[in-house]
Amino acid sequence: MIVDAHVHIGNSFWGEFSPEFLLKIIGDNTGICSNLAGIDSYTGKDEYQANMEMLEASRKYRQIKPLFVCQAERSQDTNILRHFLREYSDFLGLKFHPEFTKLPANSDKYDKYLEAAREFNKPCLYHSGHIKSKYSSPLLIYEKAKQFPDVPVILGHLSTGPEESHQAAIDIMLESIEKETATIYADVSWVDIDDIILLIESLKNTAKGDYTHRIMWASDAPVGDFNQKKEIYDKNLNLFKVKITEHFNDEKLLNNLLCNNARRLFKF
Ligand SMILES: [Zn+2]
Repeated sequence: MIVDAHVHIGNSFWGEFSPEFLLKIIGDNTGICSNLAGIDSYTGKDEYQANMEMLEASRKYRQIKPLFVCQAERSQDTNILRHFLREYSDFLGLKFHPEFTKLPANSDKYDKYLEAAREFNKPCLYHSGHIKSKYSSPLLIYEKAKQFPDVPVILGHLSTGPEESHQAAIDIMLESIEKETATIYADVSWVDIDDIILLIESLKNTAKGDYTHRIMWASDAPVGDFNQKKEIYDKNLNLFKVKITEHFNDEKLLNNLLCNNARRLFKF
């Protein structure tokens, strides 16, 4: 099994992505999925509708594993989230997009959602942006993650932007591990292969030992032109396999990055 730790369905700003369209791209892979119609909430759907749509897609296609999209920018009422987590154990985690929703990741408005995540023992996937972003910088996400040190927080894309952003995000991960300040994971969607290797090298050799279990392969499909064509998606996955094998020559590490790390974190 290969797990793509960051994929989407939904009609939104980014395009119109049915579950069937997603499956055409990811093929037999399992996808940890959230509904973009709930992230683009002003043109899309409210929290209840968006996550119900996500649930239905995941029950129709079992390889699609749902995350609950949180609209913390609109409401700090977590009754809908709690209802979903109680009634539908299908949901494996929570998803936040501080950049698109323009709610800085260190805002108190996220707190009730993170309290629910802690209570229900669910990881939280954040879109993480450029290190200088005033909404989704890994620095702001780290600030919040430190307030909830036992909640696993995933830096989606390890931050976007150039190498300096990735390096800063890696430094944050290292500090969180070495000082035990937070539980931070990263997915490598949109990250170029050289920076992925740098991330793996860094987490392999922390002062506390090998922490590469905190890294997950992901694509963010179908967001981005290159993620909307099966041939390119497959080519990128293959490039990842080839380069990681070339560099580390460690089959166990590769399988962990491609599957086991995500399965352990999301518990399925
Ligand atoms: Zn995404």
